Amino acid sequence: MDKILVVEDEPSISNFIKKGLVENGYQVSQAFSAETGLQFLQNDSYAAIILDLILPGINGLEFCKKIRSDLRIHTPVLMLTALTATDDVVAGLDAGADDYLAKPFEFKELMARIRALARRQGGVRAPVNKLQVADLEMDLDQKKVVRAGQEIRLTPKEFFLLEYLMRNKHRVVSRLDILENVWDIQFDLGTNVVDVYMNYLRNKVDKPFEQKLIQTMVGMGYVMRE
Ligand code: CA
Repeated sequence: MDKILVVEDEPSISNFIKKGLVENGYQVSQAFSAETGLQFLQNDSYAAIILDLILPGINGLEFCKKIRSDLRIHTPVLMLTALTATDDVVAGLDAGADDYLAKPFEFKELMARIRALARRQGGVRAPVNKLQVADLEMDLDQKKVVRAGQEIRLTPKEFFLLEYLMRNKHRVVSRLDILENVWDIQFDLGTNVVDVYMNYLRNKVDKPFEQKLIQTMVGMGYVMRE
């Protein structure tokens, strides 16, 4: 049975949605805050998420961005917005929502949208979560790195460092950028940890291959390019 997560702080609306979904054969989890919704998503998988835009604490937009970029969850999201708030709609779709519905809505309209989203989810293969630079491929779901068909084993830190470089391909990143984004250190401690790890990474990713992808920009940092 398909499970739907309803993230809505107003109990009357949440209960109204739940009642209708249950009558249509769905299982429903109710989260009355985004924080609870995030917990549900980490413990269970859902066919779709119905998400209210206006929530106390983390709002619907932040929630949507978080599940897409931090948790890498691709579950379809139907966002509930205020009537004719075009800016909200655009922001919602930008944040990663798949569809929206303006309040107040009729239940049959909500149901039609949910069916369409669930169909899309089932009918179309979820996009493969991959980064690629030349013949180097990173599979973010399986945490696997392959170059020229050969699997490369990396430690978690090396993996995150490589992910950061690949996401920023063709852009020069400074040591400080790397410290902030990979080590979560907000200032330069005068440490050479970045250079040390860059060396480990090069030995695994570049050294055995003819084409070198990681380049040092003297005095500026590093860049990954094809
Ligand atoms: Ca609300």
